[in-house]
Amino acid sequence: MKPLLIGGQWIETAQAVPNVNPSDTKDIIDHYAQGGRAEAQAAVRAAADAAPGWAHSTPQERHDLLARVAADLMARAEEIGTLLSREEGKIRAEGIAEATRAARIFDFFAGEALRAGGELLPSVRPDIEVAITHEPVGPVALITPWNFPIAIPAWKTAPALAFGNPVILKPAELVPGCAWVLAEVLQNAGCPPGVFNLVMGEGSVVGAALLAAPEVKAVSFTGSVPTGQRIAAASVPMNRKVQLEMGGKNPLVVLDDADLERATDVALDGAFFSTGQRCTASSRIIVTEGIHGRFVELLAEKVRGLKVGPALDPASQIGPVVDRTQLDQDLRYIDIARREGGNLRAGGNMVRCATPGYFLAPTLISDTDPAMTINREEVFGPVASVIRVRDYEEALHVANDTPFGLSAGICTTSLKHAQHFRRHAQAGMVFVNLPTAGVDYHVPFGGTKGSSFGPREQGAHARAFYTQVKTSYVFGG
Ligand code: NAD
Repeated sequence: MKPLLIGGQWIETAQAVPNVNPSDTKDIIDHYAQGGRAEAQAAVRAAADAAPGWAHSTPQERHDLLARVAADLMARAEEIGTLLSREEGKIRAEGIAEATRAARIFDFFAGEALRAGGELLPSVRPDIEVAITHEPVGPVALITPWNFPIAIPAWKTAPALAFGNPVILKPAELVPGCAWVLAEVLQNAGCPPGVFNLVMGEGSVVGAALLAAPEVKAVSFTGSVPTGQRIAAASVPMNRKVQLEMGGKNPLVVLDDADLERATDVALDGAFFSTGQRCTASSRIIVTEGIHGRFVELLAEKVRGLKVGPALDPASQIGPVVDRTQLDQDLRYIDIARREGGNLRAGGNMVRCATPGYFLAPTLISDTDPAMTINREEVFGPVASVIRVRDYEEALHVANDTPFGLSAGICTTSLKHAQHFRRHAQAGMVFVNLPTAGVDYHVPFGGTKGSSFGPREQGAHARAFYTQVKTSYVFGG
């Protein structure tokens, strides 16, 4: 059994759950301890006990810990990437890239720990100086989804620790493996007891217990909209900081003047890589009428050419869907789209492979309109729809016609339209002639409207969430 990590101790539990490989459901990766309310509370106490010491640790100590973690993650990137692909289903190259990214995130925040400065201003009054400093918030709970099993835990844990906060990580039920390796790496790197705690278990039990604990001063969450709303509702009465990254229904606009080859590659990558299970995936492809026919034809051909197969098979380009529930959801949305009048241009069917897994052919549905269910609700699978529009103005209107606002893209050779879109797309991240998914780790990540709440994640902007500001006035006359 892979145990929990609480207060620097590995803790086994009465119950352990199997981690099943979605590429081969006969393959059980390992069994993972299942924490309950008591374990969540013990982790909160351990974090609270460790908080003063970690808050007063030196920038050098924090830097050195994070740098050791970065080096170990980098050295183990192939092993972690392989585990990631085995438990989540993205292909091995994507798994290794994600593990490498996690290492780079820790490396970046090792540097941020050294740069944790403030500001010194003259007061508007004589002989007074004003100092603005950034102090740790206290114990933070990190609640993460299954689709980026190492990158998301890394991009929350690294800044939390860099800015002096102890962590309780609650990973998604489907992917305990990568979170467990992260705990092991932190432990091996000499993380002080209680500064990093790992509690696997159910969201409704462990997550709820973390939310009920007043010692938890901040919650950073990535996942679905309903869970995010529950977390916000539980946290506001406690004056607790909340950061929510939730769903998307991200548009990719393709204009008549786009480079057809590039636009179809951008759509293919944005919609289907990582099995389309990215919050930033291009799920609505909005195409102007002059290029629509040629674009759909070529994209459908490229989609049909994608090789679906087991995540660890080097020939696979698209791995399985993460589990049965997600697969059923994908198939249900495909069915609804067809019944509402969509035209199936590629996929829609299961793919048979040598091993039993959740293999779904990447699916492209054309002739949809913005009001259809497929264009309103997040599917979270290898499924994209095409909406035909007259011109750029209509494309922009349709792109913004969604409660979400995470990421938006445009393919065009017109500087005028690219610039206009950059300014007017209602999204936290905009991409020009690039897939809507695939971001850098050193710049802010996050959305607008219904997709996100609270300060941005990643890059130097991450400090806003993981610190609180103190303004000090000193008379020195
Ligand atoms: P989810 O909301 O079901 O679960 C996310 C996490 O919340 C899990 O760890 C889960 O155990 C926990 N949880 C569930 N119920 C809880 C409760 N009552 N209290 C506390 N915690 C609880 O989401 P998921 O299915 O794991 O992930 C898919 C969703 O995540 C999609 O909607 C996707 O768009 C979103 N996502 C968003 C981003 C982003 O940055 N915007 C990134 C990745 C995924």
